[in-house]
Amino acid sequence: MLSLFQEINTAFPWFFTGVFFVSGAIVGSFLNVCIFRIPAGESVVVPGSHCACGKPIPLWLNVPVLAWLFLRGKAACCGRKISLRYPAVELLTAVVFAALWHYFAWQIAVPAMVFVAFAIVLAFIDWDTMYLPDCVNAPFVLAGLFCAAAFPQLSGEETVFGSLFASLIGLGVGSMTAYWFRYFASLVFRREAMGEGDVILLGGIGAFLGWQGALFSFFFSSFIGLFAVLMMRIFSKKKRAATEDGEGECGSALPLGPWLLIAAAVYFVCGQKIIEAFFCFVGNV
Ligand SMILES: [Zn+2]
Repeated sequence: MLSLFQEINTAFPWFFTGVFFVSGAIVGSFLNVCIFRIPAGESVVVPGSHCACGKPIPLWLNVPVLAWLFLRGKAACCGRKISLRYPAVELLTAVVFAALWHYFAWQIAVPAMVFVAFAIVLAFIDWDTMYLPDCVNAPFVLAGLFCAAAFPQLSGEETVFGSLFASLIGLGVGSMTAYWFRYFASLVFRREAMGEGDVILLGGIGAFLGWQGALFSFFFSSFIGLFAVLMMRIFSKKKRAATEDGEGECGSALPLGPWLLIAAAVYFVCGQKIIEAFFCFVGNV
């Protein structure tokens, strides 16, 4: 079995990358369901895919990305616009899964795919609702601990226990950092500076990436958040001037979850290099 696997891999190096691209698109299709149904309190299993008009969607119109292109973004049953987000999430998951498989050892790629699947659901739900549901956050933390035990290579530890211990430390450091930041920031600003969900989320990031990953994500997320706010200010200037509504639209309340998760992804790919470059810079000043 394993030798067959290796033979295919040597003969067609892109074969499994393609397999993971297609699998990623299918997983992305399920993530879409989670993103839209979980905040509404609906089951992600039943009923099957259905249009906003209530009609069920046939299997052949459920093919990720391609169905949307074929239908040109309009539902076959009632002509309703289908959000660009559906194929975008499917394509994003497909590309990330394929890239992880192609560039990383499978012992690292597989837990990273688990992380990415949770990250996409959490980031979009937080963006939509400003709320991180426990029913996704809690499995995210458990998945982090499980992946640490099943794939010690992820943390670079030699033993399963070493890896699980590093994961638990990451969970503790991540959630405690967010907890105390939330506590003191609320005292200083006299309003909630960070959601309760963010405390669990940073704990989960720590469970996957260790305490260094949690701290990196915590600090780096503010840079990403600031950059995103700046971009939104620039690109929504006209709209804001027209509505005469300064705050609210993109100013005061922004979710933190997406930035924490993007920062965690950055740490996974090149966090060590950024930290080294930072200390090299500090050392030279
Ligand atoms: Zn319809």
